[in-house]
Amino acid sequence: MHRRALLLISDTGGGHRSAANAIAAALEELGFEYRIEDVAAHCSFPLTQLGRGYSMALRYAPPVYGALYYATNGLRRYRALVRFCEPLYRERLRDLFLSYRPDVIVSVHPLLNHAALRARADAQMDDVPIVTVITDLGKVHVSWLVPQADAVAVPAREVYERAWSRGIPPSRLHLLGHPIHPKFDDVSGTKEELRRQLGLPLAQFVVMLMAGGEGGGKLLSTALSLARARLPIYLLVICGRNETLRRRLEDAARVLPTPTQVLGFSDKIPEFMHAADLLVTKAGPGTLAEANAAQLPVVVYDYVPGQERGNVDFVRRNDLGAVALHGSAEVVRAVRNLIRNPERLAQIRRNQAMVAPKRSSRQIAALIARVANEGAARFKAVV
Ligand code: UDP
Repeated sequence: MHRRALLLISDTGGGHRSAANAIAAALEELGFEYRIEDVAAHCSFPLTQLGRGYSMALRYAPPVYGALYYATNGLRRYRALVRFCEPLYRERLRDLFLSYRPDVIVSVHPLLNHAALRARADAQMDDVPIVTVITDLGKVHVSWLVPQADAVAVPAREVYERAWSRGIPPSRLHLLGHPIHPKFDDVSGTKEELRRQLGLPLAQFVVMLMAGGEGGGKLLSTALSLARARLPIYLLVICGRNETLRRRLEDAARVLPTPTQVLGFSDKIPEFMHAADLLVTKAGPGTLAEANAAQLPVVVYDYVPGQERGNVDFVRRNDLGAVALHGSAEVVRAVRNLIRNPERLAQIRRNQAMVAPKRSSRQIAALIARVANEGAARFKAVV
């Protein structure tokens, strides 16, 4: 019989679902059956609106989101928030656990670690291990750091140290890299072959522009500035799920002086990243980890306040590209400088190779499988 993994996410941004999809693909290779559940869908109002609220906050009031992030980033304050929210999800999450009867529960979202522990206790499923997979970098939010989890997969050394200093025992901590899709390990073909397959020009400098899974933010203004700057580039703009933006940019692209291709949500990010020369992006942890895996130098033009600040620091500290947070003119300058400096690009690619997550999802899946087996064995030893 297949073992079952229940992966808990919330669709705030695209990164948590991408990470869960990546882990699920690797779990499937190991013969697991899995379910990915957006926990907000199992909550009462207002938690049902979490994903929408997140998108609205980031679209119209990023500083408000940042203030909320910092206001809840303390153990006592976060515990108070957990107590307040518990009644909104407790029963339904317990029922989900009881109906699916997983062999292992995997939390891929900061707000779901305590919720998973509570629901597991309510369902009297203490034999089912909980694995947390942290998908942020730097000084991650306190909600990620749950010492009671049976295993915690961390993406980078500084997250490991922070988790350790916050009481997670080293025996439960596993430094395995950000969970990027196994497809990134499996991309084959030369840059030229990939460009032919993808319909990209062979001889031009290809700049990819992204803003996570949702698109939005400063993507439109950044795309227009890059396309009007008369740089010697081919511009590939990936709008993610933001259809309105895709349509606006497609209309604009017809009269822009730079050859520009505009796409909506693409499932070919691994191939595009291996085929491109430079990525201009907001500091999403998934996108940055993928760029490192593809050794695609980055220019970071934006970040989600609070949550993605650590990712910007990670890019600076490891010299993975340029950081240009002060408007489109700075982004254009950064791109121009990098185009003119192949040696600098080569150095960045070498730095990226040093920190790139290698086979991360497959390693995380192997950890989950091990922990699932140990959980069952522990239970058998008790009964
Ligand atoms: N992504 C994708 N197709 C798209 C746009 C984005 O598969 O058209 C993926 C991207 O490869 C990454 C994720 O969406 O895995 C975005 O995650 P990230 O953590 O960078 O940002 P978020 O969307 O959470 O803000």
